Amino acid sequence: MAEDWANPTSTHREGQRARHRLEEARRELAAVLAVAPGELVFCASATEALHLLIRGLQSALGDRPAAVFPGEHSACLNPLKDWSRVVWLPELPVACATVVQMAANNETGLLYDMPSVLGAVRIKDCAQTWGKVPVDLSDCDAAVFSGHKMGGPRGAGLLWMRPGLPWEALMEGPQERRRRGGTEDLPAILGLAVAARHLTERQSANESLGPLRDAFEAEITSWSRDIEIIGRSLPRLPNTSCVLFRGRKGEALHASLDLAGFAVSTGSACHSGAVKPSHAIMTLGYHLDDARSVLRFSMLPDARPDEVEALVAAIKRLT
Ligand code: PLP
Repeated sequence: MAEDWANPTSTHREGQRARHRLEEARRELAAVLAVAPGELVFCASATEALHLLIRGLQSALGDRPAAVFPGEHSACLNPLKDWSRVVWLPELPVACATVVQMAANNETGLLYDMPSVLGAVRIKDCAQTWGKVPVDLSDCDAAVFSGHKMGGPRGAGLLWMRPGLPWEALMEGPQERRRRGGTEDLPAILGLAVAARHLTERQSANESLGPLRDAFEAEITSWSRDIEIIGRSLPRLPNTSCVLFRGRKGEALHASLDLAGFAVSTGSACHSGAVKPSHAIMTLGYHLDDARSVLRFSMLPDARPDEVEALVAAIKRLT
């Protein structure tokens, strides 16, 4: 912020130095993702990247159906609202225009493969996988990434698109090769590039959390049959436990754990005072009441066994 304060679009020397740093960061991130630097667009978040991507494809493709994973994040479902027809995967309509699939679900941590479909633009939401498990872009045509989920700062997201997609820019302006207008947030972008430098060690730290997470799950499920791990036997992120406390209110457990110093999440979103049960949980076949009784525990890469023991003790006091 102190050194490269200038606008990267400015033509004076300071601006050009900022431009140089910006392009350096782009090259570095492109190398990490094994794509060409010119295929990356800097955005402020994965939400923005999904909006630009999906809405930007709409004028060419929007009159044909889109197939979407039903547990998708609202950041992806919202820009599809104006699409002529949306069907839920695994249904794949004839003449499908685009398929949107999250690589991992933010609530359950479950991992998903990209469905194979000919002729559709395949969009992968990598917000939850980047820095936790390897990211494979060989089976998709576009992908989005979030900086603050992989150790980078808030305010930096990435949109990757293969060249030649029938895509139109929505935010006009000279920046990002006219694909995303608006002055780039250089400090956030440089922070993202620094975080990407540590990606390999972050990923291996995350991967090594598996046994700690499994021990946590084994302990809490041993207390009662009403405590269930959602998706326990399925491929999952190594740091995430999605726990159903059947018969208990997720919100109340969440508040008590918060007071005890544990920042966990409910499977529900609170909109204007009303608690909305998680659609990601319900698409797995769980009942409405169960969806309201879910807590998600996400371990940070440096989580220690004694911290998990303290969490277990706190949960025990509440159940
Ligand atoms: N997609 C998934 C799967 C997410 O988990 C999130 C954030 O929680 C997003 C998209 C949106 O990311 P951002 O916070 O960068 O807008």
